[in-house]
Amino acid sequence: MTYELINTAIKKYLEANSLNKVEELGLDRIFDPPLLGVAAVGDELFSQLKNPEIVGENHLLPQEWLLGAKSVLSYFLPFSDKVCQANRKKGLPAKEWLYGRVKGQQFNEALSKRIADLCEEYNGTAVVPAIDSRFCLSDELNSNWSERHVAYIAGLGTFSLSKSLITEKGAAGRFGSVITTLEIEPTSRCYQSPYEYCSFCGECLERCPSKAIKDEREQKIAGMERKVCQNYMNTKIRPRFKPFYGCGKCQTAVQCEQTKPL
Ligand code: SF4
Ligand code: SF4
Repeated sequence: MTYELINTAIKKYLEANSLNKVEELGLDRIFDPPLLGVAAVGDELFSQLKNPEIVGENHLLPQEWLLGAKSVLSYFLPFSDKVCQANRKKGLPAKEWLYGRVKGQQFNEALSKRIADLCEEYNGTAVVPAIDSRFCLSDELNSNWSERHVAYIAGLGTFSLSKSLITEKGAAGRFGSVITTLEIEPTSRCYQSPYEYCSFCGECLERCPSKAIKDEREQKIAGMERKVCQNYMNTKIRPRFKPFYGCGKCQTAVQCEQTKPL
């Protein structure tokens, strides 16, 4: 199976699937076409994710998820302009964002299953860590499979002050990945360091309603405190917008979109 074949299948799936629309809001699409990256399981960066300063001991290698794994397919689904523009205002999340976050995640899961099925159609086996029964979070809210770190390895983008990953289509979107036994040519990483695409302008920090983003601009490292963000979501957003949730004010900062990769 080739990169082109998977990419074409993903784009077709995106166009045809009703989960990528929100009719009640007149939103003809939640996501624009995704970016796709491929990493070889032998990439040395996977073992570095076990370092407690990066993700942690609990982060599993691709081959720990799937015996005989050879490739990791990682993708970024960018929210459409309509969703991003609606969420530009500071304060509470826009309806478009809330629907996009929840319905969009249903679409994301369906897409990852479709990619896994495609691998099986080509005589491979596949695992989707995010929906696997072994997927879990540590007390520090670090998962045993970090989509953003995997996307970094697959060449999709670099980290930022707000702990998001900035891609060539901005930071507002959802990530997903599939591990497979099929051998697919890895994509290249067009960056040298983990924070290359973040300008450390501080716009995300100004926009964050919960003050979850610490000012680490001088150190040029990520400053988002996940527990503060989660507490805001659980106390201020979920009770008010149930069954929807989300915020994404940091991801919809204009500067993240303008910080295009070279
Ligand atoms: S708003 Fe600025 S500081 Fe924040 S993540 Fe985007 S580019 Fe980096
Ligand atoms: S999602 Fe919202 S609360 Fe959480 S860090 Fe981003 S802006 Fe702050």
